[in-house]
Amino acid sequence: MNLSKEDFINQVQKRNAGESEFLQAVTEVAETVIPYIQDHKKYREARILERIVEPERVIIFRVPWLNDRGEVEVNRGFRVQMNSAIGPYKGGLRFHESVNLSVLKFLAFEQIFKNSLTGLPMGGGKGGSDFNPKGRSDHEVMKFCQSFMTELYRHVGADIDVPAGDIGVGSREIGYLFGQYKRIKGEFTGVLTGKGYEWGGSQIRPEATGYGLVYFVKEILERQKETLKDKKIIISGSGNVAQFAAEKCILEGAKVLTLSDSNGYIYNPKGIDLEGLAYIKKLKNDERGRISAYATKYNCDYFEGKTPWEVEGDIALPNATQNELHKKDALKLVQNGCFCVAEGANMPCTPEAIAVFNQYKIYYAPGKAANAGGVAVSGLEMSQNSLRYTWTRDKVDAKLQQIMREIHTLCVKHGKEDHDYINYERGANIGGFVKIADAMLAQGL
Ligand code: GLU
Repeated sequence: MNLSKEDFINQVQKRNAGESEFLQAVTEVAETVIPYIQDHKKYREARILERIVEPERVIIFRVPWLNDRGEVEVNRGFRVQMNSAIGPYKGGLRFHESVNLSVLKFLAFEQIFKNSLTGLPMGGGKGGSDFNPKGRSDHEVMKFCQSFMTELYRHVGADIDVPAGDIGVGSREIGYLFGQYKRIKGEFTGVLTGKGYEWGGSQIRPEATGYGLVYFVKEILERQKETLKDKKIIISGSGNVAQFAAEKCILEGAKVLTLSDSNGYIYNPKGIDLEGLAYIKKLKNDERGRISAYATKYNCDYFEGKTPWEVEGDIALPNATQNELHKKDALKLVQNGCFCVAEGANMPCTPEAIAVFNQYKIYYAPGKAANAGGVAVSGLEMSQNSLRYTWTRDKVDAKLQQIMREIHTLCVKHGKEDHDYINYERGANIGGFVKIADAMLAQGL
């Protein structure tokens, strides 16, 4: 079979009609992986890519629950078990009103490659619900999580499928989900990651995605004989990933100029400091407030209804959500001298924006490589749970740094182009693909 890119995309499009996010993620991978497959008969003949884009299993379920007014609410729950070639399904749960099958399939698909890149034995999966915890009481969130797990428990397990957090699912939700799993199954196992440290969680897991992102950027800079010192950083988002990416940047001597939420962005030309960041953490995590409160308290600018890509800076870290950075934003960043974009969110840059980065030879680090630190430390949490042991903060942090360094090396190996330019997108896609493909070949049909 001689797989042409067009035929492949057409086939995926036909089978997954209307699933625009999933198609976007598959097309992005196909662009770089298909030319590689053309040169490798064994992958072509075994139709590896056609198999990878088909989930092993999709579970869709009803989530009925009682709100604080005693009314019945009904949401839809999902778990996409995408690929188990190299380990149990692994990937987060997203609770947000935008969640649908297309979004979760794109995330599960990306997760296969990301997990492979970490070098740890984890397959790819993702799940979630169209329930939005924002504006809900703790009691309502607990009720929802309990109902969600009352169905999900039969499909997951420490050696089967290990969910974790994502947008809308933090330590509070993981706690309620874990409690319900334990109640139903009567066993205390590592069925979820992102658990509290006192009950089976890992050191550094809350920090891991943001810290890992900055470790990856440091690797990119090191190849250019550069450091983060005094670099101007533009960050979108203000959730878990953005908070810890900002923290690590500040600790490395960089200047974090912006953070944002869905209403607008804050801009501090002097750089947000650790005290300001502590305020933001409390504001977002405990009070579930809006980022504009920082601008009021610290007397700096707040731009309502805007995204931070218009600000002049050296490095951009899109850490909010998918398709948040468009072609016009990419052009603006390039025009303003930005030379590196690394994704803390999953698929935050549109294909047109990525094309701009490639055209201008901007270092563009895709999420599946740059934000893999989160799931990597989830993998380390699974190891510690299996050992019934806990590692120190320094040990986990050192392992995270090593994993990010190895992902970078793999991207360089498969992404090297003329004049020593690295196409990190191709490097990540091929680097992630090979291990999965070889495992699938070894295990037969
Ligand atoms: N949701 C995170 C991601 O996108 C982490 C998943 C995990 O820890 O399993 O990679």
